[in-house]
Amino acid sequence: MSGTSEGPAPAADLDRGAVTESDSIYRSVFRTASVAMAVVDREGLVVTANDGFGALLGSPPDALTGKVAADLVDLASDTRTWHAYREVLRGREARLRCTRRMKHPDGQSVWVQVVVAPLPAGEDGVLLSVTDISAQRELQGRLRHLQMHDPVTRLPNRTLFFERLTAALEAGSYEESGTGRIGLCYLDLDGFKAINDTLGHRVGDRLLAAVAERLTRCADEAGYARASAPLVARLGGDEFALLVEDSTGTEQLADLAESVLKAVQAPFDLAGQRLSVSASIGVVERHAAGTTPTALMQAADTTLYWAKADGKARWTLFDPERNAHRMTRQALASHLRPAIERGEFVLEYQPLVGMEDGRVNGVEALVRWNHPQFGVLTPNRFIGLAEEDGSIVPLGLWVLRTACRQARRWQLDHPDEPPLFVSVNVAVRQVWDSDLVADVAQTLAETGLAPGLLQLELTESAVMGSAGRPLQALQALSDMGVRIAIDDFGTGYSNLAYLSRLPVSVLKLDGSFVRGFQYEGDKEGTVAPNPADEVVVEAMIQLAHRLGLTVTAECVETSAQATRLRRIGCDTGQGWLYSRPVSPERIGELMGTQTEAVGNP
Ligand code: C2E
Ligand code: MG
Ligand code: MG
Repeated sequence: MSGTSEGPAPAADLDRGAVTESDSIYRSVFRTASVAMAVVDREGLVVTANDGFGALLGSPPDALTGKVAADLVDLASDTRTWHAYREVLRGREARLRCTRRMKHPDGQSVWVQVVVAPLPAGEDGVLLSVTDISAQRELQGRLRHLQMHDPVTRLPNRTLFFERLTAALEAGSYEESGTGRIGLCYLDLDGFKAINDTLGHRVGDRLLAAVAERLTRCADEAGYARASAPLVARLGGDEFALLVEDSTGTEQLADLAESVLKAVQAPFDLAGQRLSVSASIGVVERHAAGTTPTALMQAADTTLYWAKADGKARWTLFDPERNAHRMTRQALASHLRPAIERGEFVLEYQPLVGMEDGRVNGVEALVRWNHPQFGVLTPNRFIGLAEEDGSIVPLGLWVLRTACRQARRWQLDHPDEPPLFVSVNVAVRQVWDSDLVADVAQTLAETGLAPGLLQLELTESAVMGSAGRPLQALQALSDMGVRIAIDDFGTGYSNLAYLSRLPVSVLKLDGSFVRGFQYEGDKEGTVAPNPADEVVVEAMIQLAHRLGLTVTAECVETSAQATRLRRIGCDTGQGWLYSRPVSPERIGELMGTQTEAVGNP
């Protein structure tokens, strides 16, 4: 809208009233044109309207003469448009264009584009034309919807989520009204990958859609009696977010997270398949002022990671102190190497128990750091760091030697008992950055431990895609008689058929699967999370057996879980039901006993 015109030129009045033939043609063109049009005088009153305009308003065109045009097409409802319209009428602006939603006489509402422009020089007044742009708008809307939504769950996608988050955090949007706070539940399904792998992507997709439905229901319930419901979005894979604008505090978010956990845990019925999953949720709640989308998402990501590390199937609230603690990682890292030399690490051993006879067949060696300042640190606190800075190589070698020496010690001290095998965790970098095969061979030779009494635990990611050197290393170790186990199976990306082509002989099912077995036999009301349904675990065990692998279940905590695991053919169990990780002396005492009753120290 620019340019000015100083009203009609005086000469134009000369021809006024002289109706020529072409005038009458133009009049009939005006009358019958499919575009709705009206000539409006400088006062804003309709001089003449065409048939299209009449049809749009559901009135004979003649009846519109003398009406206030601005009222007919709603030009006065917002001040900016009103002002611009007045300027066009006065001849100070060249043109006004705006979009309006109008109620059609048949009750339907239509989107129209209204254009007001001066009549050509010589004619007084302005031409108001109205075009129905509903179809265009609808198409645009549909395109935008497609761009902003996820086809599997029909939820808003990452793009729309960030758009909304950014808008919510823009100063102004929260200053005007509301609480000035924002909350986010960031969740991820536990064990989803395994469901995808064992039951296929179609089942996986259906599960995601069903989860989305439940999340939406939770959001609707939370939004009941409030101005708006939380936005539910799928951020990718099995990650979802619930965004609460104008949150009232952590309690509101905690309630929401709690209801989401519950909703997700109820079994899903997917075309005859009964599936159970659980979710881990990171919850962040804070003032909108001073936070950014990136900062908020980082906090949510860290918190989700804590929820997973704390055992999954739970929600965790962002804790600035814990976050600061995370910062001390750097401090810990710098002390790792000297700590190995100072002998600050010790090993505990956790029994691996035959599911059939309840006897301890072996033990897993688990490292602890007796930190002079922080006390006993569990491996979750420092193994990652040691992997990052490479000190896992000397630390891993120390663990290997100590564990093998200890296994040989038990054997010598208990000559009448069947010897225990020892299972040692090996980090990826040990396979890549050290000569693991030579280290193992040398350790076995030095300690006198039979290769068959050593098992090495590697994670899925360590063996997946291994080719070349790591694969040769695995093969050489296996040829030596050392068993290879896949640790935390089901949390990564491997598929069983692929694994069977590697020299692997044991699968250690991640604890999240076993947790799902708690419900049977438990008291009403203590229904436990079901990270993956029995269908999945049973299928996995059967497939593993067919591929010649044995299966060890981690985190067996209750006898109900043990019973079910035994029933579906699991070979070995490990967990608090049998024993927590204990000192080597305690293992010596356990040798030869049946452990189901031994319990926790
Ligand atoms: P992992 O190899 O999966 O070890 C099992 C973990 O589950 C141990 O935690 C153990 O204490 C815990 N656990 C055992 N039974 C139960 C149970 O019934 N319920 C629950 N909730 N947890 C149970 P820990 O000792 O904290 O070890 C954590 C992880 O650290 C290990 O997971 C392993 O990946 C790593 N790790 C431990 N020692 C070493 C090591 O010497 N070298 C390397 N590279 N990694 C190690
Ligand atoms: Mg392990
Ligand atoms: Mg494990």
